[in-house]
Amino acid sequence: MGDHVHVRLSQGLSVSDEGELIEHSRCRCGATFTKVFNADGGGPERPSRS
Ligand SMILES: [Zn+2]
Repeated sequence: MGDHVHVRLSQGLSVSDEGELIEHSRCRCGATFTKVFNADGGGPERPSRS
């Protein structure tokens, strides 16, 4: 056991109902991750629309 740095292996991409691109990743230890990309492609400073 001990400290473990997850290695995120890409498991593919999907798109949410809101049009966001979601990347699924998984470490060999079994941990899973998702990373969401805003499909609008705006900059990090861009405020969300309401
Ligand atoms: Zn891991």
